[in-house]
Amino acid sequence: MTKEEAAKLPKYTPNPIFAGLPKILKDPGSYYKVQKALIETLACPTTHSDPAEMQKCSTCTENMVARRKLMHRLGFSSLHQYMEWRKVMELMLGISKKKPIHGINKGD
Ligand SMILES: [Zn+2]
Repeated sequence: MTKEEAAKLPKYTPNPIFAGLPKILKDPGSYYKVQKALIETLACPTTHSDPAEMQKCSTCTENMVARRKLMHRLGFSSLHQYMEWRKVMELMLGISKKKPIHGINKGD
């Protein structure tokens, strides 16, 4: 590649949503640890068949607050940043939440 060709390549611009994200969270190896820690904050002894019940449950409400606090301690600046981080990590790790539909997204 010549210098001129190289200059024509699109410049790498990091997504501003990830500005200030701690280095540890940029490591895909931390994905499962982070997810495990966050999921553990949501443990409730009552099983709720309807997700709407969770909003009325005091344990679940406290758990949501604990989850938010842990998210901030881990270094996420917002829920939006966390959601975007999850998307990127799942893409990097090849985790697909799409359920395969026979014959439609085969070989996804
Ligand atoms: Zn609950």
